[in-house]
Amino acid sequence: SKNLQTPHVIILPTPGMGHLIPLIELAKRLVSHHGFTITFTIPTETDSPSKAQKLVLDSLPKSISYMFLSPVDLSDLPSDHKIETRISHTVTRSLSSLYDSFKLITSTHRVVSFVVDLFGTDGFDVAKEFNVKPYIFFPSTAMLLSLILHFPKLDQDYTCEYRDVPAPIQLPGCVPINGTDLFDPAQDKKNEAYKWILHHAERYKLAEGIMVNSFDDLEPGPIKALKGAESGNPPVYPVGPLIRTGDDVSDLSGCLKWLDDQPHGSVLFASFGSGGTLSGEQLTELALGLEMSQQRFLWIVRSPSDKVANATYFNPQSIKDPFDFLPKGFIERTKNHGLVVPSWAPQVQVFSHVSTGGFLSHCGWNSTLESVVHGIPLIAWPLFAEQKMNALMLTEDLKVALRPKANEQGIIGRDEISRVVKGLMQGEEGKRLRFKMRNLKDASAGVLAENGSSSKALAEVANKLTA
Ligand code: UDP
Repeated sequence: SKNLQTPHVIILPTPGMGHLIPLIELAKRLVSHHGFTITFTIPTETDSPSKAQKLVLDSLPKSISYMFLSPVDLSDLPSDHKIETRISHTVTRSLSSLYDSFKLITSTHRVVSFVVDLFGTDGFDVAKEFNVKPYIFFPSTAMLLSLILHFPKLDQDYTCEYRDVPAPIQLPGCVPINGTDLFDPAQDKKNEAYKWILHHAERYKLAEGIMVNSFDDLEPGPIKALKGAESGNPPVYPVGPLIRTGDDVSDLSGCLKWLDDQPHGSVLFASFGSGGTLSGEQLTELALGLEMSQQRFLWIVRSPSDKVANATYFNPQSIKDPFDFLPKGFIERTKNHGLVVPSWAPQVQVFSHVSTGGFLSHCGWNSTLESVVHGIPLIAWPLFAEQKMNALMLTEDLKVALRPKANEQGIIGRDEISRVVKGLMQGEEGKRLRFKMRNLKDASAGVLAENGSSSKALAEVANKLTA
């Protein structure tokens, strides 16, 4: 039958929109450029997908199907567990369901590869039983990939916490990173999340190859080092930037319509990804800072969370009405130059709009790539995961972002916010960043063109899979 000839790939996205979205773009490219068909096997905690998940899954082309694995119970995890722990347990508890899916899919398809993202390596055991080649798609930077690949060695070299290491950590080809800026799971060696990263790092060696959502011009140093023959890791393929192509046309909040009425390049888009939340006090300062700056803004606001910075990571809808938490009279006072939208916006369409001129971002990697592809400079406001590392790269290395400073209490005050917002949207520095970002934008288009480096890298993977 036709199915038995067409090469088929099974993809396992670990929980989080930031993992699902770029994997879907990878799948679309494997379908349209290389003739594959795809099944997503999706681990989950609940019977029903989140609204955000549904929006992207409903827009999949015909050659890509999906199935949810049996929901897992995580009620036994300690209440203060980190997201990396939760994600890893979701995968290990989905393995028997994944096995059943493999059985089903391999009975009707020629499955040539199994692709997981950064936390999905436990699925490799199932793929092995079916003689299917395991690959990793790494939805973050080459710099973070380098950190994870070096994690076992760093763990041996430094017996103390990284935050107590006086000199910055130097990874091959990367900007030096202060211990405190390393991604979250590296911040506490005793935490279970740390052990999970060590576990995944060891298993990365089992992969036939690692695709990374980055490209040569964006991270020349780390990519060159990872590709070097002496690196000892599986072959690394920079295939990015794979970003959403803007099929989510629903403008439920009316923000695109609002943008139509604003001057060219005048609007700062402020958003903290699918999971980012601020404390109540920080939310107030941001509101008043935006107001003080007198710049136009489109702000995606979520209810504050005083405990963690990623309160909505697994379900981007706020539980309470976020407008209740804004300073009194704020909406009224800013209505002529600002729009506040609860929870979720069609972000890629916002970036494609000519009125958008700046991005205040938590520096999630997908958001960052979307900003690069559209040539929009940033204000870097990292919250969790590897976002401090991304912010470091954007401000110190690429010089396409401004970084506001927090006060001694860890709060970024309204004056500071107003200063960076004006600096980005109006100042000379903003102009320089914008110019640099335009160059990156051009480069990002080049690498995905027919003979660009990222197109060639993905073609190489595709050839290996079908050989
Ligand atoms: N996103 C969106 N609308 C929103 C918030 C997020 O479309 O209101 C999309 C965004 O465009 C990106 C992804 O969700 O593709 C967020 O991924 P990112 O890596 O930036 O951050 P994370 O959500 O993983 O923290």
